[in-house]
Amino acid sequence: MRIADKLARKQTFSFEIFPPKGDLPLETAKRAAGEMAADAPDWISVTYSAGGSGNSANTVPIAAAIERDLGVTALAHLTCLGSSKADVDAFVSSLEASGVENVLALRGDRAPGREAVDFTHASDLIEHLRETAPGLSIGAACYPEGHVESPSDEADFAALYKKQEAGADYLVSQLFFDNEDFYRFRESCARHRVKLPIVAGIMPFTSVKQIQRMAFTCGASIPAKVVKRLVLAGDDPAVQAQAGIEYACEQLRDLAANGVDGLHVYSMNKPAIAHAAHAALVDCGYLEA
Ligand code: FAD
Repeated sequence: MRIADKLARKQTFSFEIFPPKGDLPLETAKRAAGEMAADAPDWISVTYSAGGSGNSANTVPIAAAIERDLGVTALAHLTCLGSSKADVDAFVSSLEASGVENVLALRGDRAPGREAVDFTHASDLIEHLRETAPGLSIGAACYPEGHVESPSDEADFAALYKKQEAGADYLVSQLFFDNEDFYRFRESCARHRVKLPIVAGIMPFTSVKQIQRMAFTCGASIPAKVVKRLVLAGDDPAVQAQAGIEYACEQLRDLAANGVDGLHVYSMNKPAIAHAAHAALVDCGYLEA
């Protein structure tokens, strides 16, 4: 089902998985998706070669399996840096042949050897998809704390407006650790004529190392309250990861209480994260038991 249609009817709840890297079997991602399906998400998204890791070939097979074997709506990510129009058209044909109707249209992270071919920005890809695949529901990325490369907030909102005008149906946010950043961003969107539904993306931190990497790659700031949780968790990786899940659940409950269009959990192939998020949102009445 088209995600745009779901968002028009209800507040959504969704998960994300990534194709295994290198030679790891596809089955691991499919098994994780299968376990997450038990929480009845509105969709499960599948990343595309995130960070230039080269695992994009498995995005369509995994998205197809989510639709076909689990009966859950799949959202296939697609990046355009380094791709030609023919590459994109081939990807979309295989998606459509697999019954997947949803794409998250992205530029992709810059990486050596990944130069623009036919597309410079995500809005170019969105425009192309709108023209060539009118049946697709198209999502796009947004950044509550601004995109790392962006020279100013104004430039970021101009880019977002372009995505909207090119034909994006909705936005999914980059992770953030302070909900106030999201609420401020949402208000600013309205001021900058960006009217698309905004799905808030939440990723539990799992360790000091992981959160530092996130801060540098995504430009997400780490609030003092998160640093304190990590200090209290000490050196035990399991305790750090549990602190991250608890903090993410608090974020989700607060967002639910503040009337979001949708909540997306960066569940990182870990069903335990998905189940904890689901339980927190049932507990606060955002989801039905
Ligand atoms: P763009 O919208 O093109 O923006 C990139 C930069 O260019 C921004 O600074 C923007 O302000 C600027 N810009 C945009 N349009 C214009 C314009 N017309 N003129 C001048 N400047 C402009 N990466 C992956 O590799 N695989 C994934 O699966 C993946 N999934 C993601 C999912 C989500 C929800 C998010 C938030 C990010 C994801 N990413 C993924 C990361 C994403 O590819 C990077 O953040 C990338 O750096 C920017 O992508 P974008 O689509 O926002 O690009």
